[in-house]
Amino acid sequence: MKAIILLGAILCLGSVVTMPGARAGEAAFQAGFAERDITPDIGMEAPGGYGKAYHQSLHDPCKVRAAVFGDGPSRVAIVGVDTIGIRRATVMAIRKEIEEKCGIKPEAVMIAASHSHAAGPLGFFLPGEFDDASPLVKSLVYDKTVTANPAYLARATREIVAAVVAADASKVTAIAAAGFGREEQAAFNRRFRMRDGSSMTHPGQGNPDIVEPAGPIDPQVGVLGAWSKDGQFLGCVVNFACHGTTGPGGISADWIYYLEKTIRGLMGDKAIVVFVPGMAGDVTQVNNRSPYQIKQFGEVSARYVGGRVGAEAVKTLVSFEQAAGPLSPVAAQNEVLKIKRRAPKPERVAHALEIVKQDPAKVDATEWTFAKELVVLDARIKKEPVADVEVQAVQVGPAVFLSCPAEYFCQFGLDIKAGSKFPFTFPVSLANDCVGYVPTEEALSPHGGGYETRLTSYTNLEPAAGRQIADAMIGLSAQLQPGAVPQPPPLPKFEGQPWSYGRVPPELD
Ligand SMILES: [Zn+2]
Repeated sequence: MKAIILLGAILCLGSVVTMPGARAGEAAFQAGFAERDITPDIGMEAPGGYGKAYHQSLHDPCKVRAAVFGDGPSRVAIVGVDTIGIRRATVMAIRKEIEEKCGIKPEAVMIAASHSHAAGPLGFFLPGEFDDASPLVKSLVYDKTVTANPAYLARATREIVAAVVAADASKVTAIAAAGFGREEQAAFNRRFRMRDGSSMTHPGQGNPDIVEPAGPIDPQVGVLGAWSKDGQFLGCVVNFACHGTTGPGGISADWIYYLEKTIRGLMGDKAIVVFVPGMAGDVTQVNNRSPYQIKQFGEVSARYVGGRVGAEAVKTLVSFEQAAGPLSPVAAQNEVLKIKRRAPKPERVAHALEIVKQDPAKVDATEWTFAKELVVLDARIKKEPVADVEVQAVQVGPAVFLSCPAEYFCQFGLDIKAGSKFPFTFPVSLANDCVGYVPTEEALSPHGGGYETRLTSYTNLEPAAGRQIADAMIGLSAQLQPGAVPQPPPLPKFEGQPWSYGRVPPELD
């Protein structure tokens, strides 16, 4: 499936002709922002691991935040949702409703999960998804694995649609700009090469067998900010690669709460901050190499990450504020790849079956959990041996958001930035579905390994998937033409007078 919308590029030419003195695309470029609340109830499931956990308190609200950019009849929506992940079936239903209600094309709607591990039960598995499986598998999924709450799913679906429709309805003639901040001390690669030649995830702070990180981080804080023509700040889209695992305690948007608070501190309480995560499959807030006894989880950690990334976003916004202009074109493309899942060996499944039939309290909890995962994966592959993996490109002038539904390794984000001809490339993970961790082939090679390479019902795409997805994303961006980077108006030829106070020789007596 492939779809292309490129109407904006043609239509903005008209505005140049009809508006003498106006900058290109000025009449056509519009931006609108809106947010809706999707805070789950106390007692609802708290998706964050492979098993069940439930919310007991509230820290801060979970939200849907949406930005709609338009260039004549061509419109795109970029949506950030405070959730660990969102499934493709949910996204397809949301896109259909959005098209019915306000006409934005399904392929032009990007819905990314912030990956907060303290949000509501939008997934992982959906109600009814395993109704045709064996009683054992049904029980392992519905009673022992993270599953969406039907009422919450319906509510969140409704609110995501409402946020996009409201953002579209609030569009005004706007100016915008994109740029990058740089934050190198808030996020860390969590996989390490060890002295024995292996790689592992989270070897432990201060572990003397750590040789070096097994992968990079992406220090760029990508920001796209928009103002009304009269200079009122409307909102921004922020892109940064770090897991939402600080866990300030209770229901929370995680560090994204403090990101929003920091940006609103300077830019105003009405500003909408849409967060779309970068490629953070192997990147978290935990610094395994810190020599200090510091809190790497909880309130302090959430404030640290959100404050630092937010401050960089603010710095970037005020730096390009005076360069902002109407952006064009506004366009979107997508493509659905068919990628095979990697199947566990039959003898591993048989062994896993033996383990899951035992009382979880009497076997090693980790061993039981991953045995359960293999049994559920085996059932999933029987129904769905090949995954639909949507890659998407959403362009706003000189900026392109390139998304995939993976918890994608950070190296791919850097590769995509290097391979894209756009001045501002924002790689977005966990968009429009979640297909689990997608590591590099190196991480899946004999010297690789670690948590993200475990075979589970969640993470199971074949080893070549990572490169295939990166190539497809770069390919999509290559089919789009970057728009001009806005600049402040050029200075006219000097015809003024020097400052009269300053135009004197030194007065010595
Ligand atoms: Zn994750």
